[in-house]
Amino acid sequence: MSRHSKNNNSLGVFTYAERQMTDYGTKRKRLGQDSKRRFDACYLCLQTAISPMICRRGHISCKGCVISSILEQKQAIERDMKRYTQAISQQRELKLKDEQQRREEWEMERYRQRQVGLSSKEKKTKESLGEEQTKKRVKLLKYEADQQPQTNRSGEPAPQGRGGEQSNMGEKRLSSFWLPSMAPSTDQTVKPPAHKTPQCLATSDPHAVKLKSLVEVKFKQLKDEKLCPSCDRPLTSSSKIDVMSKCGHAICRKCVNTFVLTSKECFVCQAKIEPKDVLSVESEGTGFTAGGGQMIATKYESALQA
Ligand SMILES: [Zn+2]
Ligand SMILES: [Zn+2]
Ligand SMILES: [Zn+2]
Ligand SMILES: [Zn+2]
Repeated sequence: MSRHSKNNNSLGVFTYAERQMTDYGTKRKRLGQDSKRRFDACYLCLQTAISPMICRRGHISCKGCVISSILEQKQAIERDMKRYTQAISQQRELKLKDEQQRREEWEMERYRQRQVGLSSKEKKTKESLGEEQTKKRVKLLKYEADQQPQTNRSGEPAPQGRGGEQSNMGEKRLSSFWLPSMAPSTDQTVKPPAHKTPQCLATSDPHAVKLKSLVEVKFKQLKDEKLCPSCDRPLTSSSKIDVMSKCGHAICRKCVNTFVLTSKECFVCQAKIEPKDVLSVESEGTGFTAGGGQMIATKYESALQA
């Protein structure tokens, strides 16, 4: 077999090249330029941002995209909050109803027991009771404590509508698919919305964002290229770019340090700039070291060992 056919061989071993070609086991891949978002791309639509806006943490997005995102989130939060408050009031009502029903049941049982000659006073004198009576009394006490539903002769628990109450008592109860009364239920407790305000979703660690706090970014553009207005060098994903929050001009970090921070005014429009008015643009980077993010993507998959 010739050397060149390493990808297609009849060897007794499974070569690295062959393993790479199969969809088998954990895969690792170095991320290239195409896997990264460009510095001027919108984090929502991933295209070059149209009338770009920047948040306080340096995430760039189209004006239209970010406005619709914020509005959608606001609506979702409102809807979830409404659902949550409804669920809470419903739960409260159910609990009250359940409690009332339990009390009635208990009263009825007490009355019934009294009729057969077991008053609550008699119960206290345990020693004077016979064995049979003691058994009855234990049963009654169980009722009073209202600990668990009665079991019928077959040993199955009676259908119970007090699931919530039971779990409150800390009782361990395993669900079962074979007994309809013990089948796990899908109704889960409604939770309040995770965030009360719209979030900037550019990173895995979202932060609160307001429409008013967004700044419109002004790039110096020459054809398709974006330039630093000060040094006229093209801006790329691996260059550090700062945006003046007062006027929105985008200037490279080097020029910001040399001119803007020393003169305390914007290089383009001479707006007064303090160090806190300089927002640094978050970019995913393209180079080996740029961006500082994870450069290797790993897909974990199970592989059966022969
Ligand atoms: Zn967009
Ligand atoms: Zn952000
Ligand atoms: Zn520059
Ligand atoms: Zn400016």
